[in-house]
Amino acid sequence: MIPARWRERLRAALLKPLPTTPPDRERVFAPQPTALYLHVPFCAHKCAYCSFNTFRRPPTRMRDYVTAVEREIASHAARPELGAVEVNSIYVGGGTPTHLPAGDMARLLDALTRSFRLRSGVQVTLEATPEWQTGSLSKMLTVNFSSG
Ligand code: SF4
Repeated sequence: MIPARWRERLRAALLKPLPTTPPDRERVFAPQPTALYLHVPFCAHKCAYCSFNTFRRPPTRMRDYVTAVEREIASHAARPELGAVEVNSIYVGGGTPTHLPAGDMARLLDALTRSFRLRSGVQVTLEATPEWQTGSLSKMLTVNFSSG
């Protein structure tokens, strides 16, 4: 049994008149800032328990993958509904993204920067292994995230 005071509140909420003016269409359909996810499906080895889409890391396959993703980034960015969207964060997951050579990671981040409108101060998150060399980070940080 619903207590009387809650019954009254419920009735008031249900009987509340609907707005008479339609919502502002421009505001409702305006592109909202969004986040991009970049998948790097390579690891040193495939763990037996892993259910992620990952593979061992043969170098030729990684290069082909980077080239394919660059093309895919450009094709998505060419879609009008995506090209206008402002990106406020990028997440790079896997797999183990830091197994990708730093130069290849920089290529991917650079492709995102050239293809999408990145918000100033865009947040970039990268999954990494503890053994990762910080020198690789310096190489990746040559990407100019403010140019997009
Ligand atoms: S993603 Fe993690 S759990 Fe899966 S294979 Fe790579 S290291 Fe192993």
